[in-house]
Amino acid sequence: LFDALADQAALAIERIQLVADVDRAKLAAEADRLRSALLTSISHDLKTPLAAIMGAAGTLREYSGSMPEADRADLLATMVDESERLNRFIGNLLDMTRIESGAMEPNSSLHFVGDVIGTALRRAAKILAHHRTEVDIPADLPMLRLDPVLFEQVFFNLLDNAAKYAPSGSVVRLRGWAEETAVLLQVVDEGPGIPPADLERVFDTFYRVRKGDQVRAGTGLGLSICRGFIEAMGGTIAAGNRTDRSGAVFTIRMPIPGETPGWKP
Ligand code: ADP
Repeated sequence: LFDALADQAALAIERIQLVADVDRAKLAAEADRLRSALLTSISHDLKTPLAAIMGAAGTLREYSGSMPEADRADLLATMVDESERLNRFIGNLLDMTRIESGAMEPNSSLHFVGDVIGTALRRAAKILAHHRTEVDIPADLPMLRLDPVLFEQVFFNLLDNAAKYAPSGSVVRLRGWAEETAVLLQVVDEGPGIPPADLERVFDTFYRVRKGDQVRAGTGLGLSICRGFIEAMGGTIAAGNRTDRSGAVFTIRMPIPGETPGWKP
């Protein structure tokens, strides 16, 4: 009986190894496919603004002498805008690499979250020029342990998305409130919202919901950076949709540090 069992076990192990080999081969092929899709996507995102810059620079070199001043200004504006876009994208790629390699080390200390969000709002003012912003962040929220540079970037990315995906003239709302152990912060818009099946995937690197979104300047990096930054600071971020009308809701939950002075729920 023992021999028979041993044979059976040996057979089972052999089968498991066979399955594992097939899975490993499948995984390796999938990883290769993802890597090349990633490279294609990155190259495209780098080349598009670069092509615009090269085009404008070439035209300026060739015709700048005989060109009306307004056209020259247009070309220069294109060069500045596209350089900024390129710079943002490279910055995002670097942030992403730091998050994924685990080298993201937040420089956290106690801050009033309203101040940090105020800075993000000022930075996003130009982008949000065609939206109405409503801010409902009480001044007496407990202080949070966070890295203001990273936190500001998270809100900037969320506001940038709200401006991109919600129609102009619509309201972008920032809300904050405290619960017993955490402060909750939300960015709420009046755009199309996010299909329920995509609510988790929007945080994946390079993931974009709609094919049509490709025409919008975007890289699918913004939200994965938000999640990487927030988790590095000990919080969580989730996507949802409004229930009263269409619109996306992004909710950040940050723990209230034990040592917050004077805070009582
Ligand atoms: P990007 O905006 O550069 O594509 P993100 O990582 O910021 O990349 O967002 C990923 C995807 O999630 C977007 O392409 C878009 O499809 C969807 N998304 C993000 N924010 C919103 C929003 N406020 N409303 C609707 N869809 C959104």
